Amino acid sequence: MIYLDSNSTTQIDPAVLDAMLPFLKQSYGNPSASYAAGRHAHRALEQARNQVASLINAAAEEIIFTSGATESINSVHAFAQAEWPQRPILIIGSTEHSAVLECAERWLKQGGQVKRIPVDHQGVVDLNALRTSLEPGKTALVSIMWANNETGCIAPMKDIVEISHEAGALVHADAVQVMGKMAIDIQNVPVDYLSLSGHKMHAPKGIGALFVSHRVPFRPYLVGGGQENGRRSGTENMPGIVALGKAAEMAHHSLTNEKADDPTVLRDHLETTILKALPDTHIHSHKTARLGNTSSLCFPGVDAAGLLILLDKRGIACSGGSACHAGALHPSHVLEAMGYDARHASSTLRFSFSRFNTDAEVTTAAQEVIKAVQRMREIFDYSSPVAIA
Ligand code: PLP
Repeated sequence: MIYLDSNSTTQIDPAVLDAMLPFLKQSYGNPSASYAAGRHAHRALEQARNQVASLINAAAEEIIFTSGATESINSVHAFAQAEWPQRPILIIGSTEHSAVLECAERWLKQGGQVKRIPVDHQGVVDLNALRTSLEPGKTALVSIMWANNETGCIAPMKDIVEISHEAGALVHADAVQVMGKMAIDIQNVPVDYLSLSGHKMHAPKGIGALFVSHRVPFRPYLVGGGQENGRRSGTENMPGIVALGKAAEMAHHSLTNEKADDPTVLRDHLETTILKALPDTHIHSHKTARLGNTSSLCFPGVDAAGLLILLDKRGIACSGGSACHAGALHPSHVLEAMGYDARHASSTLRFSFSRFNTDAEVTTAAQEVIKAVQRMREIFDYSSPVAIA
């Protein structure tokens, strides 16, 4: 398989697997236990906390381990709504992941008010709209993704934080897609809450973290045994936590090491090869800062669902610009918010790379995409290339 869907999930790094395996075998002590096996687990827990904190330049005490970004996001949203009933407004971006969108739905159902900030044609949050939506003293939380999972568009997070803080609102960043892909320094970009997920950065599924700045309050979503310093109950997922720590350490090393593998080279290779053969291919968010590992491409005249099947048959895994919810295909709300119509979205594929991809894989994938698109266009009599801004 040529796996080009790393924004969906990633392969576990062999070094990460090696680090976690002892905690699935012999090192099964409960980190709350006072005997040696428990103390060993506790030390590993705190080491992992330090590793995750270092990745974003936070303090270890500011990291809470969770089951993934969905839990982290839910925890922050539920807390903010309960904590500040006198501030009923939640502000979100219009291209957020469903984890944030569904939390916003719940916010509404529970009597709150939700404002969605529009994005421009490149997918960048409209900062003026943010400014005017922030009603000082009435907005509890601004929750915006640091980078978009479909297009890779990177948000101007520093400006978002500055503008929101000026109005007295706290900021939650969904940082799932930026972890390990770009350097994040929360001293420089002082978000208040930040969510991340292990399986997007070469650790396993079912582990994530929530950063809560020491400046801001937080109360737990999950209560019980009082683990994680009373901020997230439940016996710790030690194999997952150790894996996330190792993955964070490796990501940190790779981001600070000049010789690190940069998937941007692969992405650019794919895009230039495809564009040469299929010049009317449209690249989303190409005129703004975007993740080096993400390529969202529209092939006008081609049904992406069919294209996905053809590519799957050739052993290439990537994803479409439409999401399947309850068996029905819906055009991507991200592309819709960027001003593209449903037809355009239904001709869009996303390729996302990781350090495990090779140049040879990209060459093969590009050739297969070109062949498949040409074949489908022949079948469906597609002729006039449409220029898309
Ligand atoms: N936020 C973004 C931007 C994502 O891409 C994802 C996963 O696709 C999530 C949140 C949710 O992460 P998880 O499913 O790991 O909880």
